[in-house]
Amino acid sequence: MSRWQAERLSQLPAYLFAEIDRKKREAKAAGRDIIDLGVGDPDSPTPAFIVDRMGSAIRDGANHKYAFGVGMREFRAAVANYFKRRYGVLLEPQAEVISLLGSKEGIGHLPTAVVNPGEVVLCPAPGYPVYVSGTVFAGGVCHTMPLKEENGWLPVLEDIPAEIADRAKILYLNYPNNPTSACAPLSFFEKAVAFCKKYDILLVQDAAYSEIYFDAPPPSVLQVDGAKDVAIELHSFSKTFNMTGWRLAFAVGNADALAALAKVKSNLDSGVFQAVQVAGIEAISHMDHVQVRAQLSTYKERRDILVSGMREAGFSVIEPQATFYVWSKCPAGLDSWTVANRLLDESGVVVIPGGGMSEYGEGFVRLAMTVSADRSNEAVTRIAKVRF
Ligand SMILES: *Cc1c(COP(=O)(O)O)cnc(C)c1O
Repeated sequence: MSRWQAERLSQLPAYLFAEIDRKKREAKAAGRDIIDLGVGDPDSPTPAFIVDRMGSAIRDGANHKYAFGVGMREFRAAVANYFKRRYGVLLEPQAEVISLLGSKEGIGHLPTAVVNPGEVVLCPAPGYPVYVSGTVFAGGVCHTMPLKEENGWLPVLEDIPAEIADRAKILYLNYPNNPTSACAPLSFFEKAVAFCKKYDILLVQDAAYSEIYFDAPPPSVLQVDGAKDVAIELHSFSKTFNMTGWRLAFAVGNADALAALAKVKSNLDSGVFQAVQVAGIEAISHMDHVQVRAQLSTYKERRDILVSGMREAGFSVIEPQATFYVWSKCPAGLDSWTVANRLLDESGVVVIPGGGMSEYGEGFVRLAMTVSADRSNEAVTRIAKVRF
């Protein structure tokens, strides 16, 4: 630790993939043909109709000023409209919708707004690491909720000790789930809302993959009766519209929680560039645009290639109904680090070892559907040649 680093930085979750990153760089530098199924960043550009709207919005001087606040009136209205169409949920745009500089920003700042030092945040594991980092920055304490195959990768709320639940301030859920690709039925959200009401906990459902699905559209936690009393949901443009670099997302639900988050944000950022919000309005108002829907068939084709290829290679895989991840069980007796290292060394394919995310991710590797069908095919062909 260098002399300018505060102690809290040493409490952040360790980054365990440095070794794989190094090997990947070395292999590339040595001229090897590496297929990277590690990154969860869409490979396709943002749909042209959204880029076109940005083009005109950026030439409008009215959009060049500080955006301030947590979203243009029109942006928040467009979000409320989407929520009514997609989920049948009514939102009051000025009180129950706020814009975010990506959902990562919202997740990172939320505990600062909600959690007092020493209070507990319930975090799923394996899970998105920022649930933990944001909690650490706020001086909160993480309590891990293990996600296990036998429970359909849903946390078992009954397993949370009552004295922990009493001290808990936030419960994080993330469905459709990264990395397991599991979906939560509305009945699970009902149980979670009841649990959070009982213990007075803010339920935060991270819906970053809400629109990346291959079967029935996944539900929103706000479809549960009375959910707004205790819940907010985070949605992002990043994965839905291939807009990871643009930094645009929103939170909806409980007005008090959103006001607290808005207070933190008003002291740290000055809102989302208005031209980006204008492009975002165009995007979310045209969810059924052919350029958006085409992306789902692209992922579906890749999913089918990866799932059948991994099965042929001896991995047991549940076919994902949502997200762009394939969560593959390692061949019997092998841990995820061995599998990931050998796949990189012997086949030039990069995957994420579940054990690097959490002890509860051990025994699985995550593959992303973010390379072309041809390259996905090539990847599983090479993987099948590795003798485990
Ligand atoms: C990608 C991702 C995010 C972050 O999305 P941004 O809106 O780009 O910040 C949040 N949660 C999960 C689970 C993700 O996979």
